[in-house]
Amino acid sequence: MKGLDSQVEGQTNSRPYLLDLSVGDLKTLIEGLGERPYRANQVLAWVYRRFVSSFSEMTDLPVAFRTRLEETLVINRLDLVATQEEEGGWSKKFLWGEDRKPLVESVLLRYKYGLTGCVSTQVGCPVGCVFCASRVLGFQRNLSRGEIIEEFLGMCRDQGERLGHLVFMGTGEPFLNYDEVLAAIDMLCRKDTYGISRRKITVSTVGIPEAIENFAKDGGGAKLALSLHASKDETRDKLIPLNRAYPIGRVMEALRHYAEVTGQRVTVEYMLLKGINDGREDALRLSGLLAGLDCLVNLIPWNEVPGLEFEPPGKSRVAEFKAILERNRIKVTVRRKLGGNIEAACGQLRRRTVLSDSPDR
Ligand code: SAH
Repeated sequence: MKGLDSQVEGQTNSRPYLLDLSVGDLKTLIEGLGERPYRANQVLAWVYRRFVSSFSEMTDLPVAFRTRLEETLVINRLDLVATQEEEGGWSKKFLWGEDRKPLVESVLLRYKYGLTGCVSTQVGCPVGCVFCASRVLGFQRNLSRGEIIEEFLGMCRDQGERLGHLVFMGTGEPFLNYDEVLAAIDMLCRKDTYGISRRKITVSTVGIPEAIENFAKDGGGAKLALSLHASKDETRDKLIPLNRAYPIGRVMEALRHYAEVTGQRVTVEYMLLKGINDGREDALRLSGLLAGLDCLVNLIPWNEVPGLEFEPPGKSRVAEFKAILERNRIKVTVRRKLGGNIEAACGQLRRRTVLSDSPDR
Protein backbone atom coordinates (compact mmCIF):
# COMPACT_ATOMS: atom_id res chain seq x y z
CA MET A 1 0.00 0.00 0.00
CA LYS A 2 2.77 2.32 0.98
CA GLY A 3 4.50 1.68 -2.33
CA LEU A 4 1.33 2.51 -4.26
CA ASP A 5 0.73 5.70 -2.30
CA SER A 6 4.17 7.03 -2.96
CA GLN A 7 3.86 6.06 -6.61
CA VAL A 8 0.60 7.95 -6.95
CA GLU A 9 2.06 10.90 -5.13
CA GLY A 10 5.14 10.76 -7.34
CA GLN A 11 2.93 10.79 -10.43
CA THR A 12 1.00 13.79 -9.21
CA ASN A 13 4.13 15.76 -8.49
CA SER A 14 5.72 14.96 -11.80
CA ARG A 15 2.69 15.74 -13.96
CA PRO A 16 4.17 17.88 -16.74
CA TYR A 17 3.07 21.50 -17.01
CA LEU A 18 1.32 21.94 -20.33
CA LEU A 19 2.75 25.38 -21.06
CA ASP A 20 6.32 24.17 -20.58
CA LEU A 21 5.88 21.54 -23.32
CA SER A 22 6.90 22.03 -26.93
CA VAL A 23 4.25 21.29 -29.54
CA GLY A 24 6.19 18.14 -30.49
CA ASP A 25 6.27 16.93 -26.88
CA LEU A 26 2.54 17.57 -26.48
CA LYS A 27 1.78 15.57 -29.63
CA THR A 28 3.91 12.68 -28.39
CA LEU A 29 2.24 12.77 -25.00
CA ILE A 30 -1.24 12.79 -26.55
CA GLU A 31 -0.35 9.91 -28.84
CA GLY A 32 0.87 8.09 -25.75
CA LEU A 33 -2.67 8.47 -24.38
CA GLY A 34 -3.96 6.65 -27.45
CA GLU A 35 -5.31 9.74 -29.23
CA ARG A 36 -4.46 11.09 -32.67
CA PRO A 37 -1.86 13.89 -32.83
CA TYR A 38 -4.37 16.41 -34.25
CA ARG A 39 -5.95 16.45 -30.81
CA ALA A 40 -2.88 18.44 -29.73
CA ASN A 41 -3.96 21.25 -32.05
CA GLN A 42 -7.40 21.29 -30.48
CA VAL A 43 -5.85 21.54 -27.02
CA LEU A 44 -3.48 24.31 -28.18
CA ALA A 45 -6.37 26.25 -29.69
CA TRP A 46 -8.31 26.11 -26.43
CA VAL A 47 -5.34 27.26 -24.38
CA TYR A 48 -3.75 29.83 -26.71
CA ARG A 49 -6.82 31.17 -28.54
CA ARG A 50 -9.65 30.82 -26.04
CA PHE A 51 -7.53 31.13 -22.91
CA VAL A 52 -9.28 28.36 -20.96
CA SER A 53 -7.81 27.30 -17.64
CA SER A 54 -9.24 23.79 -17.33
CA PHE A 55 -9.54 20.75 -19.54
CA SER A 56 -13.23 20.48 -18.69
CA GLU A 57 -13.89 23.59 -20.80
CA MET A 58 -12.56 21.88 -23.95
CA THR A 59 -16.00 20.85 -25.07
CA ASP A 60 -15.10 19.47 -28.48
CA LEU A 61 -12.92 16.77 -26.90
CA PRO A 62 -14.36 13.45 -25.74
CA VAL A 63 -15.09 13.53 -22.02
CA ALA A 64 -12.90 10.49 -21.32
CA PHE A 65 -9.98 12.17 -23.08
CA ARG A 66 -10.47 15.36 -21.06
CA THR A 67 -10.30 13.30 -17.88
CA ARG A 68 -7.12 11.59 -19.07
CA LEU A 69 -5.58 14.99 -19.83
CA GLU A 70 -6.53 16.23 -16.39
CA GLU A 71 -4.81 13.24 -14.80
CA THR A 72 -1.74 13.55 -16.97
CA LEU A 73 -1.02 17.27 -17.25
CA VAL A 74 -1.03 20.42 -15.14
CA ILE A 75 -2.79 23.17 -17.11
CA ASN A 76 -2.34 26.07 -14.66
CA ARG A 77 0.46 26.91 -12.33
CA LEU A 78 -0.30 30.52 -11.44
CA ASP A 79 -3.26 31.63 -9.33
CA LEU A 80 -4.48 35.17 -9.43
CA VAL A 81 -3.80 36.52 -5.92
CA ALA A 82 -4.77 40.17 -6.48
CA THR A 83 -5.55 42.69 -9.18
CA GLN A 84 -5.50 46.43 -9.03
CA GLU A 85 -6.92 48.75 -11.65
CA GLU A 86 -5.77 52.27 -12.26
CA GLU A 87 -8.44 54.91 -12.17
CA GLY A 88 -9.69 55.42 -15.70
CA GLY A 89 -8.76 51.86 -16.60
CA TRP A 90 -5.50 52.70 -18.38
CA SER A 91 -3.65 49.92 -16.69
CA LYS A 92 -4.34 46.88 -14.58
CA LYS A 93 -1.94 45.03 -12.40
CA PHE A 94 -2.01 41.26 -11.85
CA LEU A 95 -0.30 39.60 -8.91
CA TRP A 96 0.15 35.88 -9.54
CA GLY A 97 0.95 33.34 -6.86
CA GLU A 98 1.74 29.71 -6.37
CA ASP A 99 -0.11 28.03 -3.52
CA ARG A 100 -1.57 31.50 -2.79
CA LYS A 101 1.90 32.89 -2.04
CA PRO A 102 2.65 36.03 -4.07
CA LEU A 103 5.12 35.27 -6.81
CA VAL A 104 5.18 37.60 -9.82
CA GLU A 105 3.37 40.52 -11.36
CA SER A 106 2.20 41.38 -14.83
CA VAL A 107 0.66 44.60 -16.06
CA LEU A 108 -1.93 45.20 -18.73
CA LEU A 109 -1.53 48.55 -20.46
CA ARG A 110 -4.17 50.19 -22.60
CA TYR A 111 -2.73 52.35 -25.32
CA LYS A 112 -4.53 54.02 -28.17
CA TYR A 113 -3.27 51.30 -30.49
CA GLY A 114 -4.55 48.52 -28.27
CA LEU A 115 -3.69 46.27 -25.37
CA THR A 116 -0.17 45.44 -24.28
CA GLY A 117 0.80 42.76 -21.79
CA CYS A 118 3.91 43.42 -19.71
CA VAL A 119 5.36 40.27 -18.14
CA SER A 120 7.96 39.41 -15.50
CA THR A 121 10.73 36.95 -16.28
CA GLN A 122 12.13 36.22 -12.82
CA VAL A 123 10.88 36.05 -9.24
CA GLY A 124 12.70 39.05 -7.85
CA CYS A 125 15.73 40.31 -9.70
CA PRO A 126 19.44 39.65 -9.18
CA VAL A 127 20.62 42.87 -10.87
CA GLY A 128 19.98 45.26 -7.98
CA CYS A 129 19.41 48.61 -9.74
CA VAL A 130 19.32 51.06 -6.84
CA PHE A 131 16.14 52.88 -7.94
CA CYS A 132 14.01 49.75 -8.47
CA ALA A 133 11.44 48.19 -6.13
CA SER A 134 12.47 44.67 -7.15
CA ARG A 135 15.80 45.15 -5.45
CA VAL A 136 14.21 45.24 -2.03
CA LEU A 137 13.02 41.64 -2.05
CA GLY A 138 16.04 40.14 -3.77
CA PHE A 139 16.18 37.30 -6.25
CA GLN A 140 14.42 33.97 -5.84
CA ARG A 141 14.38 32.13 -9.14
CA ASN A 142 13.88 32.20 -12.88
CA LEU A 143 10.40 31.72 -14.29
CA SER A 144 9.93 28.86 -16.72
CA ARG A 145 8.79 29.45 -20.32
CA GLY A 146 5.35 28.18 -19.33
CA GLU A 147 4.99 30.53 -16.40
CA ILE A 148 5.92 33.49 -18.62
CA ILE A 149 3.38 32.35 -21.22
CA GLU A 150 0.76 31.89 -18.49
CA GLU A 151 1.20 35.49 -17.27
CA PHE A 152 0.38 36.64 -20.79
CA LEU A 153 -2.50 34.23 -21.46
CA GLY A 154 -3.89 34.93 -17.99
CA MET A 155 -4.28 38.60 -18.89
CA CYS A 156 -5.99 37.64 -22.17
CA ARG A 157 -8.35 35.44 -20.17
CA ASP A 158 -9.11 38.27 -17.79
CA GLN A 159 -9.90 40.63 -20.65
CA GLY A 160 -11.68 38.03 -22.76
CA GLU A 161 -9.62 39.13 -25.76
CA ARG A 162 -6.22 38.95 -27.40
CA LEU A 163 -3.52 41.37 -26.37
CA GLY A 164 -1.83 42.85 -29.44
CA HIS A 165 1.59 43.49 -27.91
CA LEU A 166 3.89 41.75 -25.47
CA VAL A 167 6.69 43.49 -23.61
CA PHE A 168 9.25 41.94 -21.29
CA MET A 169 9.45 44.88 -18.91
CA GLY A 170 8.20 43.43 -15.66
CA THR A 171 10.34 42.21 -12.80
CA GLY A 172 13.60 40.48 -13.65
CA GLU A 173 16.28 40.66 -16.28
CA PRO A 174 15.11 38.74 -19.36
CA PHE A 175 18.64 38.10 -20.59
CA LEU A 176 19.60 36.41 -17.33
CA ASN A 177 16.82 33.93 -18.15
CA TYR A 178 17.66 33.85 -21.82
CA ASP A 179 16.60 30.35 -22.84
CA GLU A 180 13.20 30.47 -21.16
CA VAL A 181 12.42 33.94 -22.50
CA LEU A 182 13.42 32.87 -26.01
CA ALA A 183 11.37 29.69 -25.72
CA ALA A 184 8.30 31.66 -24.53
CA ILE A 185 8.66 34.04 -27.49
CA ASP A 186 9.10 31.20 -29.98
CA MET A 187 6.07 29.40 -28.60
CA LEU A 188 3.76 32.44 -28.66
CA CYS A 189 4.80 33.28 -32.22
CA ARG A 190 3.79 29.92 -33.68
CA LYS A 191 0.82 29.93 -36.02
CA ASP A 192 -0.70 26.92 -34.23
CA THR A 193 -0.55 28.64 -30.83
CA TYR A 194 -1.10 32.36 -30.19
CA GLY A 195 0.42 33.52 -33.47
CA ILE A 196 1.73 36.92 -32.37
CA SER A 197 4.13 38.67 -34.73
CA ARG A 198 7.69 39.13 -33.50
CA ARG A 199 7.45 42.82 -34.35
CA LYS A 200 4.81 43.13 -31.63
CA ILE A 201 7.22 41.84 -28.98
CA THR A 202 9.80 43.96 -27.13
CA VAL A 203 12.43 42.68 -24.73
CA SER A 204 13.86 45.25 -22.34
CA THR A 205 17.35 44.62 -21.00
CA VAL A 206 19.65 46.25 -18.50
CA GLY A 207 22.39 45.71 -21.09
CA ILE A 208 24.25 42.41 -21.25
CA PRO A 209 26.37 42.73 -24.40
CA GLU A 210 26.80 39.07 -25.40
CA ALA A 211 23.11 38.41 -24.88
CA ILE A 212 22.17 41.45 -26.99
CA GLU A 213 24.40 40.13 -29.77
CA ASN A 214 22.93 36.65 -29.52
CA PHE A 215 19.42 38.06 -29.52
CA ALA A 216 20.16 39.76 -32.84
CA LYS A 217 20.32 36.21 -34.28
CA ASP A 218 17.87 34.36 -32.04
CA GLY A 219 15.14 37.00 -31.65
CA GLY A 220 14.03 36.58 -35.26
CA GLY A 221 12.84 40.19 -35.49
CA ALA A 222 11.63 40.78 -31.93
CA LYS A 223 12.33 44.31 -30.76
CA LEU A 224 14.89 45.40 -28.23
CA ALA A 225 14.85 48.13 -25.60
CA LEU A 226 17.91 49.07 -23.56
CA SER A 227 17.66 50.58 -20.08
CA LEU A 228 20.47 53.09 -20.38
CA HIS A 229 19.46 55.64 -17.71
CA ALA A 230 22.80 57.49 -17.76
CA SER A 231 25.21 58.94 -20.28
CA LYS A 232 28.45 58.40 -18.41
CA ASP A 233 29.87 55.42 -16.54
CA GLU A 234 30.40 57.34 -13.33
CA THR A 235 26.63 57.85 -13.00
CA ARG A 236 25.54 54.50 -14.46
CA ASP A 237 27.92 52.60 -12.15
CA LYS A 238 26.04 54.04 -9.19
CA LEU A 239 22.56 53.31 -10.55
CA ILE A 240 23.13 49.91 -12.15
CA PRO A 241 25.82 47.77 -10.49
CA LEU A 242 26.16 45.64 -13.63
CA ASN A 243 27.61 48.65 -15.43
CA ARG A 244 30.95 47.96 -13.76
CA ALA A 245 31.11 44.66 -15.62
CA TYR A 246 29.60 46.03 -18.85
CA PRO A 247 30.34 49.73 -19.22
CA ILE A 248 28.37 52.04 -21.50
CA GLY A 249 30.85 51.80 -24.39
CA ARG A 250 30.55 48.02 -24.57
CA VAL A 251 26.76 48.07 -24.18
CA MET A 252 26.39 50.66 -26.94
CA GLU A 253 28.60 48.62 -29.23
CA ALA A 254 26.27 45.64 -28.75
CA LEU A 255 23.21 47.84 -29.30
CA ARG A 256 24.63 49.22 -32.55
CA HIS A 257 25.39 45.66 -33.61
CA TYR A 258 21.76 44.72 -32.91
CA ALA A 259 20.41 47.64 -34.93
CA GLU A 260 22.74 46.88 -37.82
CA VAL A 261 22.16 43.12 -38.00
CA THR A 262 18.37 43.31 -37.59
CA GLY A 263 17.82 46.57 -39.48
CA GLN A 264 15.50 47.53 -36.65
CA ARG A 265 15.01 50.71 -34.73
CA VAL A 266 15.93 50.11 -31.10
CA THR A 267 14.42 51.77 -28.05
CA VAL A 268 16.64 53.47 -25.49
CA GLU A 269 14.93 53.84 -22.14
CA TYR A 270 16.19 56.74 -20.10
CA MET A 271 14.67 57.08 -16.66
CA LEU A 272 14.99 60.56 -15.21
CA LEU A 273 16.04 61.04 -11.59
CA LYS A 274 16.02 64.58 -10.30
CA GLY A 275 19.51 65.99 -9.91
CA ILE A 276 21.21 62.74 -10.90
CA ASN A 277 20.87 62.22 -14.64
CA ASP A 278 18.45 64.92 -15.79
CA GLY A 279 20.80 67.85 -16.47
CA ARG A 280 21.58 69.66 -19.74
CA GLU A 281 25.01 68.06 -19.93
CA ASP A 282 23.41 64.64 -19.55
CA ALA A 283 21.06 65.34 -22.45
CA LEU A 284 23.94 66.58 -24.62
CA ARG A 285 26.16 63.64 -23.76
CA LEU A 286 23.28 61.26 -24.46
CA SER A 287 22.76 62.90 -27.85
CA GLY A 288 26.41 62.27 -28.66
CA LEU A 289 26.20 58.67 -27.53
CA LEU A 290 23.23 57.98 -29.78
CA ALA A 291 24.33 59.94 -32.86
CA GLY A 292 23.78 57.99 -36.05
CA LEU A 293 21.90 55.16 -34.33
CA ASP A 294 18.36 54.45 -35.50
CA CYS A 295 16.67 54.67 -32.12
CA LEU A 296 13.76 56.05 -30.17
CA VAL A 297 14.49 57.45 -26.74
CA ASN A 298 11.78 56.80 -24.18
CA LEU A 299 12.08 59.23 -21.29
CA ILE A 300 10.62 57.79 -18.10
CA PRO A 301 10.17 60.05 -15.08
CA TRP A 302 11.06 57.91 -12.06
CA ASN A 303 8.08 56.25 -10.36
CA GLU A 304 8.29 56.73 -6.66
CA VAL A 305 9.19 53.69 -4.57
CA PRO A 306 8.47 54.08 -0.87
CA GLY A 307 11.66 53.94 1.14
CA LEU A 308 13.94 55.01 -1.72
CA GLU A 309 15.49 58.46 -1.55
CA PHE A 310 15.17 59.52 -5.20
CA GLU A 311 12.85 62.10 -6.70
CA PRO A 312 11.27 62.39 -10.13
CA PRO A 313 12.17 65.52 -12.13
CA GLY A 314 9.69 68.33 -12.57
CA LYS A 315 7.73 68.73 -15.82
CA SER A 316 9.87 71.57 -17.16
CA ARG A 317 13.08 69.60 -16.66
CA VAL A 318 11.62 66.69 -18.61
CA ALA A 319 10.53 69.07 -21.36
CA GLU A 320 13.97 70.66 -21.56
CA PHE A 321 15.72 67.29 -21.65
CA LYS A 322 13.42 66.24 -24.47
CA ALA A 323 13.99 69.46 -26.40
CA ILE A 324 17.78 69.05 -26.28
CA LEU A 325 17.55 65.55 -27.73
CA GLU A 326 15.17 66.76 -30.43
CA ARG A 327 17.50 69.60 -31.36
CA ASN A 328 20.08 66.90 -31.95
CA ARG A 329 17.63 65.11 -34.26
CA ILE A 330 16.98 62.25 -31.86
CA LYS A 331 13.47 60.80 -31.78
CA VAL A 332 12.06 60.95 -28.29
CA THR A 333 8.85 60.26 -26.41
CA VAL A 334 7.98 60.76 -22.79
CA ARG A 335 6.32 57.76 -21.20
CA ARG A 336 2.80 58.48 -20.12
CA LYS A 337 2.66 57.98 -16.40
CA LEU A 338 0.91 54.66 -16.60
CA GLY A 339 0.24 52.73 -13.50
CA GLY A 340 2.27 54.99 -11.26
CA ASN A 341 -0.66 55.45 -8.95
CA ILE A 342 -1.48 51.77 -8.79
CA GLU A 343 2.12 50.91 -8.07
CA ALA A 344 2.49 49.34 -11.49
CA ALA A 345 6.17 50.12 -11.66
CA CYS A 346 8.35 47.07 -11.36
CA GLY A 347 7.70 44.87 -8.41
CA GLN A 348 5.69 47.28 -6.35
CA LEU A 349 2.44 45.39 -5.88
CA ARG A 350 4.29 42.22 -4.93
CA ARG A 351 6.54 44.20 -2.66
CA ARG A 352 3.62 45.72 -0.87
CA THR A 353 1.80 42.41 -0.50
CA VAL A 354 4.89 40.64 0.77
CA LEU A 355 5.85 43.51 3.08
CA SER A 356 2.31 44.30 4.17
CA ASP A 357 3.14 43.49 7.78
CA SER A 358 6.30 45.53 7.82
CA PRO A 359 6.33 48.74 9.86
CA ASP A 360 7.44 51.03 6.99
CA ARG A 361 4.11 50.59 5.18
N1 SAH B 1 15.54 44.18 -16.39
C1 SAH B 1 14.97 44.82 -17.54
C2 SAH B 1 13.46 44.95 -17.50
C3 SAH B 1 12.83 45.29 -16.21
S1 SAH B 1 12.31 46.86 -15.69
C4 SAH B 1 15.59 46.16 -17.76
O1 SAH B 1 16.41 46.57 -16.96
O2 SAH B 1 15.31 46.78 -18.78
C5 SAH B 1 11.63 47.81 -16.96
C6 SAH B 1 12.11 49.24 -16.91
O3 SAH B 1 11.63 49.96 -15.76
C7 SAH B 1 13.64 49.37 -16.87
O4 SAH B 1 14.03 50.39 -17.75
C8 SAH B 1 13.87 49.78 -15.43
O5 SAH B 1 15.12 50.39 -15.27
C9 SAH B 1 12.69 50.69 -15.18
N2 SAH B 1 12.39 50.97 -13.77
C10 SAH B 1 12.62 50.22 -12.68
N3 SAH B 1 12.18 50.84 -11.57
C11 SAH B 1 11.64 52.01 -11.97
C12 SAH B 1 11.01 53.09 -11.28
N4 SAH B 1 10.85 53.08 -9.97
N5 SAH B 1 10.57 54.14 -12.03
C13 SAH B 1 10.71 54.13 -13.38
N6 SAH B 1 11.29 53.16 -14.06
C14 SAH B 1 11.75 52.09 -13.38
